[in-house]
Amino acid sequence: MSQPAAPDIILTNGRFTTLDRTNPSPQAVAIKDGRFTAVGDAADILPTRGLGTKVIDLQGHRVIPGLCDNHIHVIRGGLNFNMELRWDGVPSLADAMAMLKRQVANTPPPQWVRVVGGFTEQQFAEKRLPTLDEINQAAPDTPVFILHLYDRALLNAAALRAVGYTRDTPNPPGGEIQRDGSGNPTGLLMANPNASILYATLAKGPKLPFDYQVNSTRHFMRDLNRLGVTSVIDAGGGFQNYPDDYAVIEQLHAEGQLTLRIAYNLFTQKAKEEKDDFLRWTSQNRYQQGDDYLRLNGGGEMLVFSAADFEDFRVERPDMPPEMEGELEAVVRILAQNRWPWRLHATYDETISRALDVFEKVNEEIPLDGLHWFFDHAETISDRSIDRIAKLGGGVAVQHRMAYQGEYFVERYGAKAAETTPPVAKILASGVKVSAGTDATRVASYDPWVSLSWLVTGRTLGGLRLYPERNCLDRETALRMWTENVTWFSNEEGRKGNIAVGQLADLAVLDRDYFTVPSDEIQHLQSVLTLVNGRPVYGAAAPAGPAGMVAGPHVRRLPEAGSRHAQGRGRPACGGRVLRLYHRLHHPWPCPCQRLGRRRAGQRRPLVLGCARLCLLGCVTWGMMPSPSRP
Ligand SMILES: [Zn+2]
Ligand SMILES: [Zn+2]
Repeated sequence: MSQPAAPDIILTNGRFTTLDRTNPSPQAVAIKDGRFTAVGDAADILPTRGLGTKVIDLQGHRVIPGLCDNHIHVIRGGLNFNMELRWDGVPSLADAMAMLKRQVANTPPPQWVRVVGGFTEQQFAEKRLPTLDEINQAAPDTPVFILHLYDRALLNAAALRAVGYTRDTPNPPGGEIQRDGSGNPTGLLMANPNASILYATLAKGPKLPFDYQVNSTRHFMRDLNRLGVTSVIDAGGGFQNYPDDYAVIEQLHAEGQLTLRIAYNLFTQKAKEEKDDFLRWTSQNRYQQGDDYLRLNGGGEMLVFSAADFEDFRVERPDMPPEMEGELEAVVRILAQNRWPWRLHATYDETISRALDVFEKVNEEIPLDGLHWFFDHAETISDRSIDRIAKLGGGVAVQHRMAYQGEYFVERYGAKAAETTPPVAKILASGVKVSAGTDATRVASYDPWVSLSWLVTGRTLGGLRLYPERNCLDRETALRMWTENVTWFSNEEGRKGNIAVGQLADLAVLDRDYFTVPSDEIQHLQSVLTLVNGRPVYGAAAPAGPAGMVAGPHVRRLPEAGSRHAQGRGRPACGGRVLRLYHRLHHPWPCPCQRLGRRRAGQRRPLVLGCARLCLLGCVTWGMMPSPSRP
């Protein structure tokens, strides 16, 4: 009899949270060919090591199943990530403006400086956004575009010139270009309540050439890996058309360079032509085509434009037009007939209950049974709608948008109404499938720990306590919302989401113990070692691990100033100048490896292997400038 093959990796001396109720806290884990092959006692697992087995001593760090974001726009976001300055987690407007000034000083025309969501004025100590004057002073010549939630964009004068808005530019439907006394645009764009004007304006900025988009996407994935994210469900997005805008992700997939598992939904692009999109897509594609790394997950989150209610809580709830039901039914019929599940963006119960009328009607003729369809967001969902979803066998994908705009919700609807917005604990108790995610990157940050913190503490980023204890989750339940609960939404139950024999070997080793840190520290957690398919995709370190454990792109590239690439044409040539430019643009902070290596009071010994190697390679770079508050 031949010996069973030795594992590729054994992890030992960690505090494992498997979320497998039959085996909740083992001592060691073995991985072979991308799957967990043993989860149990160190005394049983260690002797199975072979000559090629990497044994990693985790020095008591907490290990969790890899996090899965149920709703993110990562495929679109990756195309732009390298061009964005991010204010995620920045604690003051003064810090944010200092970052902006540094970025402006190093940004070659015709590139813009963009801050595209992921923050709220409530997180700033000053509790306000910059004024247009402040932005114009900071950036007299470089176009600056700042997107705040779904409600507004701030453009400096250079950006207004770049997009060509003048006194003669009409307001689009549902949007407003604010004017001064003489009718000239001030630079403030408002969603009233339709955010299309914000996105259409953003789309006028320069694009990265293809190869740079590839590099940019790898950096975005890597930053998600840094936070312990190993899987996501991509919700498509405006200006993100299938299949044209999927070439970058397809190439990364074909070359084996994805460091994130992505299930993606197809998002229709044109009002009144939605049916054509779904007829074409269902006839040319197969639901779940792809593999464990990249897989088609059905339609949505936009099915028809007439059903899209924007979640701007500073303005009144929009009523969906009367044609909504007819248009939605036509699309849902196509999807149900082809056994394609869908997701539908819906903020308010008024929209949800009308959509449910449609789903129930279609269900009478074409049973939806077993189809993993769901609503996204569902902030104000009613008990009655939860019951109707339960009956139809659907789900609810919640995100932490209220962490960013809870203050505005309370202002308009009151603290009492906010207590169950959304009623996460109640949906869980009802048995309806429910999971968590971010809806990053344009409203919320892609940082999963902000969401976990919101689920556990019930607080906004501005510190406002929204929820009473009964609508908050314990830490383990919150973690399930971010792991095993998400697998139903991509129809991958039992394949991942736990640390269990036979499941895909995706996990994160955390810098601090999620289960014992004070609750206000949860939002600052990150990973020190992330594995996807048993492969290291992020490592601040791997103490006893081998060299070469740390993978990922090391240089974030931007086209050079004045080059033809800067205009988005031609093939890029990456050389020393690009690299130096990159460093000036995006590396104003000390090397992250040094920061991670520093020991904080009361913290366990940091994991620091791999640093020297990374620094020699020109430093690992983050997508966002690290916030001063982030350790
Ligand atoms: Zn949405
Ligand atoms: Zn979304």
